[in-house]
Amino acid sequence: MDIHTRSVMPVHTPTPANSVAPPLYQTSVYAFEDIDEVDALLGGTRKGYSYTRGGNPNYDALARWLAQMEEVEAAVPTGSGTAALLAGILSLLPHPGRILVAREIYGGTAGISRRLLGRLGYRMEWIDTHDLVEVERAVTGDPAVLVAETISNPLGRVCPLDEIIPLAHAHGVPVLVDNTFATPFHARPAVWGADLVAHSLTKFIGGHSDLVLGMLAGSGARIADATALIDSGGLTPDPFAAWLALRGARTLSLRMERASQNALALARHLETLPAVRRVYYPGLASHPDADHAARLLSRGFGAIVSMSLQGGYEAVQAMVTRLKMVKFVPSLGDVSTTLSHPVVASHRELTAEEKVRVGIDPSVVRISVGIEGLADILADFTEALTTGV
Ligand SMILES: *Cc1c(COP(=O)(O)O)cnc(C)c1O
Repeated sequence: MDIHTRSVMPVHTPTPANSVAPPLYQTSVYAFEDIDEVDALLGGTRKGYSYTRGGNPNYDALARWLAQMEEVEAAVPTGSGTAALLAGILSLLPHPGRILVAREIYGGTAGISRRLLGRLGYRMEWIDTHDLVEVERAVTGDPAVLVAETISNPLGRVCPLDEIIPLAHAHGVPVLVDNTFATPFHARPAVWGADLVAHSLTKFIGGHSDLVLGMLAGSGARIADATALIDSGGLTPDPFAAWLALRGARTLSLRMERASQNALALARHLETLPAVRRVYYPGLASHPDADHAARLLSRGFGAIVSMSLQGGYEAVQAMVTRLKMVKFVPSLGDVSTTLSHPVVASHRELTAEEKVRVGIDPSVVRISVGIEGLADILADFTEALTTGV
């Protein structure tokens, strides 16, 4: 079935009143007729809900939506994208070992690995996922989990997942893929064998900057294990956040289609402006991963465009104050176009040396392209980058 159709298919359990929209089950707990009923439910011989930390119909509807979009058996929501990454790593590598993270990984993933799991004896190792020899060396040896992203933040590096996942598996190393930037509209990492797929629904899937939520997707067995961790660790979301996320999710395909078309056109336009030193967008021929992007991504290249300005940090400051429509927002994935500054915001956690390795410096700006009329987005950037420079 077409992805636009899958995006909007009803996923909630039919209700007695036949409501088209899913009801919100804003409850912490459920009542029972007798003790046998509770016993059967907690013992796993009867389906149902007892306490919301362990399950809720709003979680299940959202999970069915993601599983259908990622083309996997199951999914489970978490209180944030960060909670999904934490539960995913712990589920794939239950005992202290090596967390092999792609060099361009989201700063928060490095934060989890170092500040949280580091205390428990886990060790983080950076790897260049574009260098297959280095990947092979890293996956050989002590127990490890490999954590990579489909499209990286902020420079849009596209990881050759179809090559590195089989390499990791050949050495018994499971792989967690953060698919937040690509969303299932552009990529489904399970197709290449990812053991778990993580998402921050705070971004494009939620799409309206009104919630914080995460999700894991994978096989039934993988998700059952992750769900047990999420329940015992209290990493579950609030039912209302899950309800809101599903409301946003159902327009994901339409939003991503439009936003990625706008992004490609904006990237091409920015490349023509003298104030711009370099544009980073995997849909441009000038991008180092243009080949991987063409091979791995479907229906476009995502909604994140980054650029480096000739005038460095001062030019970024000047542009931010001149932009009329586009706001500085230290996040991404809204329906409107926003921009952020990786060195000051998303990549703050990295050391100076790590920032150099990722390729970011104070002249780099990240744009999360929205679904506005293209001419208005182009005009706002053109004016902000040409007046008085
Ligand atoms: C934002 C983000 C996260 C973390 O998600 P939260 O919902 O903020 O916890 C993880 N991975 C990527 C790629 C992100 O952009």
